[in-house]
Amino acid sequence: MKVTRELISAEKIQDKIQELADLINKDYQNDEVIILGILKGSFITLSDLAKNLKVDVTFEFMSISSYEGSESTGQVKIEKDLDIDITGKNILVVEDIFDTGLTLSSLLEVLKSRNPKSVEILCTFIKEDKQQIPIDIKYKGFTIGPEFVVGYGLDYNGKYRELPYLGVLS
Ligand code: 5GP
Repeated sequence: MKVTRELISAEKIQDKIQELADLINKDYQNDEVIILGILKGSFITLSDLAKNLKVDVTFEFMSISSYEGSESTGQVKIEKDLDIDITGKNILVVEDIFDTGLTLSSLLEVLKSRNPKSVEILCTFIKEDKQQIPIDIKYKGFTIGPEFVVGYGLDYNGKYRELPYLGVLS
């Protein structure tokens, strides 16, 4: 397996993250927000987003696994849970990619059971035309095709996360 094609350039991704940060700055200008990064894939989005935020924000992390290699295992496991109480708080979940929606729908159930004030989602990449659990994603990055992609935080067996662009692996 090799990265054979650049799908979205580093520059385009940076522009999009800036756009999303502007929206977040507007939406949370009068309120505190906890940005909940889903490890590991969201770490580059989080870092780029953080540098453009001008709101009252804190950062927390959860780690969830659902994939092995390039196939979904169909099971979601919380590897690292939150260590704070989110009751009455605004949560903005930052996830790398939306594929079947299994990961986010399971995560949303867990988070909502903890009585936050609000839960919104930012997803950097969204795969279209897949069998998906419908979820309302307020902050959408790029809509992409069904190919398996790497880079900008996304891996293949731990590799390629560091690429500043989104690439196709084949
Ligand atoms: P879902 O639960 O929506 O099917 O999948 C979401 C998770 O699957 C993502 O957080 C990511 O870890 C992984 N994933 C889905 N599609 C891709 C892909 O094209 N490339 C990589 N590297 N991971 C993916």
